[in-house]
Amino acid sequence: MRIVMIGSGYVGLVSGACLADFGHDVICVDKDAAKIAVLREGGVPIYEPGLADLIARNVKAGRLTFTTDVAASVAQADVVFIAVGTPARRGDGHADLSYVYDAAREIASALTGFTVVVTKSTVPVGTGDEVDRIIRETNPRAQFAVASNPEFLREGAAIQDFKRPDRIVIGIEDDCARPVMEEVYRPLYLNQAPIQFTGRRTSELIKYAANAFLAMKITYINEIAELCEHVGADVQQVARGIGLDNRIGSKFLHAGPGYGGSCFPKDTLALVKTAEDAGAPIRLIEATVAINESRKRAMARKVLAVCNGSVRGKTIAVLGLTFKPNTDDMRDAPSLSIIQALQDGGAQVRAYDPEGMDAARTMLRDVEFCTSPYVAAQGAFAVVIVTEWDALRALDLPRLRSVMGGDGLVDLRNIYRFEDAEAAGFTYVSVGRGAVP
Ligand code: NAD
Repeated sequence: MRIVMIGSGYVGLVSGACLADFGHDVICVDKDAAKIAVLREGGVPIYEPGLADLIARNVKAGRLTFTTDVAASVAQADVVFIAVGTPARRGDGHADLSYVYDAAREIASALTGFTVVVTKSTVPVGTGDEVDRIIRETNPRAQFAVASNPEFLREGAAIQDFKRPDRIVIGIEDDCARPVMEEVYRPLYLNQAPIQFTGRRTSELIKYAANAFLAMKITYINEIAELCEHVGADVQQVARGIGLDNRIGSKFLHAGPGYGGSCFPKDTLALVKTAEDAGAPIRLIEATVAINESRKRAMARKVLAVCNGSVRGKTIAVLGLTFKPNTDDMRDAPSLSIIQALQDGGAQVRAYDPEGMDAARTMLRDVEFCTSPYVAAQGAFAVVIVTEWDALRALDLPRLRSVMGGDGLVDLRNIYRFEDAEAAGFTYVSVGRGAVP
């Protein structure tokens, strides 16, 4: 099949490379000429484990190419995926659909022969109807069907998730699209990945309902962690105790500094807005959004707890900046709110992250970026671990302590044991484990 992917970001690039690996002919398009230039020169503009090899293999096999030219690529395609960004709209939290609609217009003028246009971007209910209308109006002679195929991959494990998904959801209003979409995903039938065909609006809502549920689960365990700190219980044990119940499940029960990233914050907000507009508000998600927002900044209070109540004039080392490990994605990372709160309190911040520092430099001001955790910790009154990168899980605690000016260790991912931290001379604070010091 000839497949075009409009948008070569975290989702488009991974999806395009995986579909090429299945044997399809894939063209990844992006309007960002610099991104396409990097890809054409054999580079990869994002960090995602395994992606560089996957791309190289499929480029070499002639199944994967890159271009900025929407018109030429779309004209040849059987299927065109839209995988552009849908960030929160400034001001009101609705999803900003301008990139999706621009892409739909560009695609419309270039369509030849029957083509299935698929929204892979996360889009609110009804967006497929609007994409359909835009294409029909822009090119009344076009033969096409619009389908919805939300993506559930996780950054950091994106290739595995795309190739071995828990499910594939496809929303269609036109039966002509069904055999085409079955053909796209036919290679996954071997893995017996469940494919759910449904209506387009239902498919669009499934993505938001799934993300909001996961965000709510994280927020729930974070609230339980807060309670644990007040009553002297251990959230790790509580999470294990409830997670072993199959009806609950153990995933997404890790207490931490609040969810971040390019999806949960904007998708929960967008669902709240959709529900409000529909006159069916989802109060659980409204609460989730509010709790998570205040939690991120509140994590700075844990730092104050190990800094004699104030960070003014003190150096604080922040380790792990990306919203989770194994990605360079800094969008809505909790570290941004935590660092801002520390700076507002008068702290000097030194930081280290294995992959996220290039992106972080563009988003943070007055932060000194360092080449290792130990360099970041030099002279620091306290070290704060925000993201649980493997490289931060086995730090030499006595060495870390020896280069610092103070003794605070704030472990927002619970990756160290109280006894080990204390033995290395730290005043140790974690999340939801026992009483607040
Ligand atoms: P991204 O910002 O990394 O990539 C989007 C790309 O689209 C950019 O490179 C941009 O230049 C390009 N683009 C925008 N308009 C274009 C146009 N008209 N023509 C060609 N290229 C255009 O975004 P992302 O993280 O890949 O997310 C894309 C969508 O997938 C979003 O709706 C997101 O919610 C959803 N999603 C993301 C993830 C994730 O983990 N990142 C997971 C599931 C779903």
